[in-house]
Amino acid sequence: MESYCRKCLLKDISKEEYFKNVYEYIKSLDKEIKTPDGEYERRLGICKECDKLVNGMCAVCGCFVEVRAAKRINYCPDVNKKW
Ligand code: SF4
Repeated sequence: MESYCRKCLLKDISKEEYFKNVYEYIKSLDKEIKTPDGEYERRLGICKECDKLVNGMCAVCGCFVEVRAAKRINYCPDVNKKW
């Protein structure tokens, strides 16, 4: 069982720990919530070509795109919704 800190801010944890937690969070999503692998890769491929992608974050919403794309229900926040 993975542990998560529900009281920590980004400034309270190391960069390595933070990214580890992000990927563990994505991995832990329920199958019903999680975007299927093929669709996930498609979404990230679009983000990688997008000029709004800055250091892994979407400049429109401020999310890490790997997290945003991981939930089936989410969508690209751009006015011209790209996925
Ligand atoms: S605007 Fe859409 S496609 Fe571009 S980085 Fe943000 S989520 Fe990805």
